[in-house]
Amino acid sequence: MEAKQLVHLAEEFGSPLYVYDAQKIQSQYQRLENAFSKVGSLRINYAVKALSNISVLKLLKQFGAGLDTVSIQEVQLGIMAGYTPERIIYTPNGVSMEEIEEVAALGVQINIDNLSILEQFGTKHPKIPVCIRINPHVMAGGNSNISVGHIDSKFGISIHQMPHLLRIVENTGMHINGIHMHTGSDILDVEVFLYAAEILFETAAHFRELEFIDFGSGFKVPYKKDDIQTDVEELGTKLSKRFNNFCKEYGRELTLCFEPGKFLVSEAGYFLAKVNVVKQTTSTVFAGIDSGFNHLIRPMLYGSYHHIENLSNPAGRERFYSIVGYICETDTFGSNRRIAEIKEGDILCFYNAGAYCFSMASNYNSRTRPAEVLWHEGKAHLIRRRETIDDIVHNQVILNFEKEEVHN
Ligand SMILES: *Cc1c(COP(=O)(O)O)cnc(C)c1O
Repeated sequence: MEAKQLVHLAEEFGSPLYVYDAQKIQSQYQRLENAFSKVGSLRINYAVKALSNISVLKLLKQFGAGLDTVSIQEVQLGIMAGYTPERIIYTPNGVSMEEIEEVAALGVQINIDNLSILEQFGTKHPKIPVCIRINPHVMAGGNSNISVGHIDSKFGISIHQMPHLLRIVENTGMHINGIHMHTGSDILDVEVFLYAAEILFETAAHFRELEFIDFGSGFKVPYKKDDIQTDVEELGTKLSKRFNNFCKEYGRELTLCFEPGKFLVSEAGYFLAKVNVVKQTTSTVFAGIDSGFNHLIRPMLYGSYHHIENLSNPAGRERFYSIVGYICETDTFGSNRRIAEIKEGDILCFYNAGAYCFSMASNYNSRTRPAEVLWHEGKAHLIRRRETIDDIVHNQVILNFEKEEVHN
């Protein structure tokens, strides 16, 4: 989107503000679809946790997406957005047997990631088909917070536990209809992904009733100019070929699934905030904005980079700034950034603000959460109102400790 448009939206809807470009979500969706056009049956299940606004879910439904969910509430949001349960896969980690049964009862595809639950579920519900999440122990990327396929990860059933897994399946007579992996959010390299895929094919060969193989996500998106990103087209060519060969060996056409979050929505998002104060100290110049890590926690949580620009003064002389939030502890969005000269009142834009930004926002410091706007076919649509103090006290049960006055 253009800077002028974004400034205009900040004026119209106030700041701070999340803006999502529907066109970019669509082009990313189509890019993935095109990369895998040689596969007979492809399913792209959008990972709801990245950005869970119902209007965004409805938009993705228009493109033909299914959903990947990690909680029963995400399943419920999907159903509210009009998805049928068959279009939803549920991949929880460490949730109760009760929640899994509740989701299964809705008709949603269950994906189980540990042997204890697999055994319990298979014993109680041998007729309900289940997908199993495998941990191939492939180290993807460098950030251990978002890399989930390595040996110490809590996710998935280890490939080293295959004999035990097969015994459970045999003993319970349960029906395994899918094999899944999700190695993390920072895969740099197509070859690493293909290596993990081989492990998944090996595993898949053990099961005779498969309908799909789910390769999870891990697509890396660029955060800076010239950043390394997953070569989706190369992956598409190589994995499609391998997948089609596997289906031949297997003797049946299977569905190839992906569950991208970031890839679909990260670059479509813009976070707009206003500069409250410019503060010169002995070591740096701080620009303090009308937001904080309560609205965008990724830099503080796992050091992620969000490119920042001053939309109000695009041609201004560049200076070095530290961009900080108003939360009363360390709250830094970016240090030592070259940004066009900032004045109080300027609107700053944070890029890559579509994935894991609003969905991780909180009311910390008793601040209200921002509004969200979807830019669709040349028009701005408010898809979430800015919160008010009423939203903050909404669920509070307010006690009254004052003694009632006694009137004689
Ligand atoms: C979070 C998650 C995804 C999405 O990951 P991205 O890096 O946002 O694409 C996919 N599958 C599972 C099981 C997840 O937990």
